[in-house]
Amino acid sequence: MIKQEELRINIDRLVGSLRQLGDIGALAGGGVCRLALTDEDKAGRDLLSTWMRELDLDIKTDELGNMVGIRKGRQSVPPVLIGSHLDTVGTGGLYDGSLGVLAGLEIMRILDEFQIATERPLAIANFTNEEGVRFTPDMMGSLAFSGIVAASEMLSAKTVDGSGKTVGEELTRIGYAGAIPCGTFEVDSFLELHIEQGPLLEEEGVDIGAVSMVQGIYWTEYQFTGSSNHAGTTPLHLRRDAGLVAAATATFVRQLALKMGGDQVGTVGLIELFPNLINVMAERARIIVDLRNTDAQALAQAQQLLEAEIELLAAAEKIAFEKTELVRFPPVQFDREIVAVIEKVSEDLGYSHKKMPSGAGHDAQMLAPICPTAMIFVPSVGGISHNIEEFTKRSDIEKGANVLLQAALRLLNRPLD
Ligand SMILES: [Zn+2]
Repeated sequence: MIKQEELRINIDRLVGSLRQLGDIGALAGGGVCRLALTDEDKAGRDLLSTWMRELDLDIKTDELGNMVGIRKGRQSVPPVLIGSHLDTVGTGGLYDGSLGVLAGLEIMRILDEFQIATERPLAIANFTNEEGVRFTPDMMGSLAFSGIVAASEMLSAKTVDGSGKTVGEELTRIGYAGAIPCGTFEVDSFLELHIEQGPLLEEEGVDIGAVSMVQGIYWTEYQFTGSSNHAGTTPLHLRRDAGLVAAATATFVRQLALKMGGDQVGTVGLIELFPNLINVMAERARIIVDLRNTDAQALAQAQQLLEAEIELLAAAEKIAFEKTELVRFPPVQFDREIVAVIEKVSEDLGYSHKKMPSGAGHDAQMLAPICPTAMIFVPSVGGISHNIEEFTKRSDIEKGANVLLQAALRLLNRPLD
């Protein structure tokens, strides 16, 4: 019988499964598009269901389509849960989300292959609509899974493309509207393996990120309303140019992040002008400001400074504006003991590692309020993600999955109190 600490994942099988899943919704130039609750998402879920059934897992689907497959433990206690998401953005890669789910599946396969029983049950999860591309908010499934937000609120969310279809309707259509109420599933602890989606690990030549926290995220939409007029005949002092205020806000956001320093970042990635014509100043402009910081107080302060500046900019241009708070996720601290387990396991496996915050939002942050939680990052080549060029080296996937395996074993077998 192999010693549990000598157990390693089968990288050929894991990469094979990632490729097989990546064929579903594959894009012509590489990459994949499996938007939440589309036919492609259904096909990805069906494949995962097949794999979970092959392992005889007890499969449970909740009312929001979150899928959990449970492998029995010696004790009937809440499981150690490993999870992430199978949905992608429109130009997704093979690894974002899928790695976290399929690495969990590979761990189940290895435990079965070596007939290893664990004290606690092990479960894997695929959370619905993590990306938030087709329906908002993002991390929708895990938000409801942990009971932070009522599932009913999410089920009535409509597609952002204006087709009027709801989450509930689309879940029913693809056959993944389960019966289990959200917020009722008991979890011992949660682990998520994910690609870094940033450049730091690769740049520093580090194998493993032991993720200690997720930075806070604020998304705020501003609609500016001025008046359209002729670009040639309207004197500057008579203009009420909504586009100008939008552009000035975008510029201010960068200056604000620079001035605040620390971990503050700020982005305006979306600006829409109406009527959006060469020789007409914009009557209306819509922008979304993305502010992030690891420090909750600093993040709130950045938002206040932004609002004060927008008041000034709008007043100067005699523009009316409306504000909509889209997302307010405070920074989330992960469990210190599990982070330490990840560091220790990396050390024992001979992999270099560092403690780091996550710049992106992940399902794990929604699990953190209900159970001890942490994440493992592996390097993203070129720091590229949400892009068909997204790539993580086979050797790095192997290391990350081995850390996940060994960390999970330690959680699974730690004494029951
Ligand atoms: Zn992801």
